[in-house]
Amino acid sequence: MRSHLVKLTALSALTLACLAVPSTATGASTVAAAPGQECYTPEHSAARSKDGDVHSLTPGQAASIESKMASKLASKRQLSTNSLAAVSIPTYVHVIHSGSTGKLSSSTISKQISVLNSAYSKAGYSFSLQSTDYTDKAAWYNGITDGSSAESQMKNALHKGGSNALNIYTASLGDDLLGWATWPWDYSGSPAMDGVVILDTSFPGGSATNYNEGDTATHEVGHWMGLYHTFQGGCSGSGDYVSDTPAEASPASGCPTGRNTCSSTGVDPIHNFMDYSYDSCMYEFTTGQNTRMTSAWNAYRG
Ligand SMILES: [Zn+2]
Repeated sequence: MRSHLVKLTALSALTLACLAVPSTATGASTVAAAPGQECYTPEHSAARSKDGDVHSLTPGQAASIESKMASKLASKRQLSTNSLAAVSIPTYVHVIHSGSTGKLSSSTISKQISVLNSAYSKAGYSFSLQSTDYTDKAAWYNGITDGSSAESQMKNALHKGGSNALNIYTASLGDDLLGWATWPWDYSGSPAMDGVVILDTSFPGGSATNYNEGDTATHEVGHWMGLYHTFQGGCSGSGDYVSDTPAEASPASGCPTGRNTCSSTGVDPIHNFMDYSYDSCMYEFTTGQNTRMTSAWNAYRG
């Protein structure tokens, strides 16, 4: 459960590996991951895309993370200081390209940083671009995937800063991915792997139709800040551990106004950045999500 990814197409080889271990606790369609392996919930097949797939945490994994985060906060004596405070996040952009392909301009990068700043301002976070570096390397640019040796090489070569620094890598991702992210609680175990990897054409003005307003980065940075999907856990249990996001049985795609997959909790949060709607449809984090970001920040990044 190291990271999260957003995909444009159906199940990958990794998914199939995960599918081998059915979980009795969460029903036949939810699967458990072997140690060190990621887990997918195939019922979430309508993803932030045409034919997407999502990988997600089991309720048990999420509960374990919550328990550890609470302990971490308690040990830092910061449970009572969860108020929102202005935090500037040093941000490093690593553009991987192949010749002129994927060589994002400084103007495009600036627009992406602005999108992030707008999305996170209410939570009290801003992103301060420290540097942009360019790497002309087809082997990393073409089809890089989560967990690949190319990812490891790229990040070990380029990662900058400490636990509070955001590293954004851009490339043409494999498996029709839009992006993926690492969790804050995994920073200490593998600091050089920390960060988000984003499809280059999803940056503002890019060619990824319906996903080219920069909200893939907003979504992935949300995971990097410790947020789950709004559909985490489905209709039952603790869901995404945020009380003001109505539960959602599965990802929304497009912009399905009025969608209501968990009738007892209100209409689905399709406008939330942590759903899978089109960029034009998503525009908010909730107060509860903002508070959760600060908890995770204080526990793991601040
Ligand atoms: Zn996601």
